[in-house]
Amino acid sequence: MLSLYLHFPFCKRKCSYCDFCSAVAGEGEIAAYCAALETEIGLYAEKYSRSSVDTVFLGGGTPSVVPAPLMRRVLQTLRERFVILPDAEFTSEANPGTVTAAWLDAIREAGANRLSLGVQAIQGRLLNTLGRIHTYEQALDAIALARKHGFANLNADAMFGLPSQTAEEYLDTLTALAQTGVTHISAYSLILEEGTPLHAAVTRGDYTLPDEDETADMMEQGIDRLEALGYRRYEISNFAKPGYECRHNLGYWRQKRYLGLGLAAASLLPTEPLDGDAAYVRHTNTDDLKTYLSCVSQGRLPTAERTPIPPAEARFETLMLGLRTTDGVSYADFERMHGMPLRQAYGTAIDKLAAIGLLMPETKAEPRLALNRRGLALQNTALMTLMEDR
Ligand code: SF4
Repeated sequence: MLSLYLHFPFCKRKCSYCDFCSAVAGEGEIAAYCAALETEIGLYAEKYSRSSVDTVFLGGGTPSVVPAPLMRRVLQTLRERFVILPDAEFTSEANPGTVTAAWLDAIREAGANRLSLGVQAIQGRLLNTLGRIHTYEQALDAIALARKHGFANLNADAMFGLPSQTAEEYLDTLTALAQTGVTHISAYSLILEEGTPLHAAVTRGDYTLPDEDETADMMEQGIDRLEALGYRRYEISNFAKPGYECRHNLGYWRQKRYLGLGLAAASLLPTEPLDGDAAYVRHTNTDDLKTYLSCVSQGRLPTAERTPIPPAEARFETLMLGLRTTDGVSYADFERMHGMPLRQAYGTAIDKLAAIGLLMPETKAEPRLALNRRGLALQNTALMTLMEDR
């Protein structure tokens, strides 16, 4: 079973906090990229033609800036070259400022059944500070339009720790999003990345960010609010109505194999004979658009890095990723994946984490290693403890 990720590195305008692989581009550039993406799909399809695909994710950038006819063609090629299961979860990210009926039709026809909208906040002042291109009213329109086009499974992103944002404003955003009936909310803290306009503005003193304690407090209040509104926290930043957890992202946290296509896309792939006893291979495409286009046009994979992951590192990654989820890591799954009991690999660290009160109590029925709410808030401490026991 395989997951597919397709990257669309274009945005209508760059947000002030963004350091993702995305740029503003004209239709000609987007068309050339989409053609290259179709070629890359073909290059990989031979190799993975026998794997069934159970999740697809279109991310960016902004997939919704890709004109509908181009998107339709890319997704048609994808469906022709890969075996996408009829019940696959098929998500696309979208910016509320660029969603159109024609674009929704194009992705819906290709099987998309989940839409993830970057709403971020309901207050115009905060959306302006972030450099978002949309208003909250446009986000509401996008949600309504998506529903009209058959999307019942909707995610909305919300951000906290923003310049001048109060806890009340963040909670108002969560409540308003819940009132729209979205099935999933991703609630993220702003990460101020060097080199972004927002970083420069904060450094100049134009904006003040909430301090660490205020941000941590916002996060805790947000968790309480979302749980009270009927969303279960299943990962540090992700909350879902029962049954609406994102299968694609759960796959990342459970080290499921996935193939990333497009600029800067990352993959986690099965090993090949030359990889010796590695557990799997991490693989990244180039993040340089010219190199990407020229490699693909010559029929070569646009690989920038290919790293076989040794067994000990793979065991650590199982915990590093799995402990982001509230279900944590099953002892049985760990042993099945690595041929070694979890306690044999990390017994000392597990005892330390229990002693400092960061673990959920274990149940006898299906023993799992999972962080409690305090442990999730102190993830770095938990990871350091595990690292020391490597
Ligand atoms: S829409 Fe997303 S990817 Fe595009 S600039 Fe804004 S944050 Fe970055």
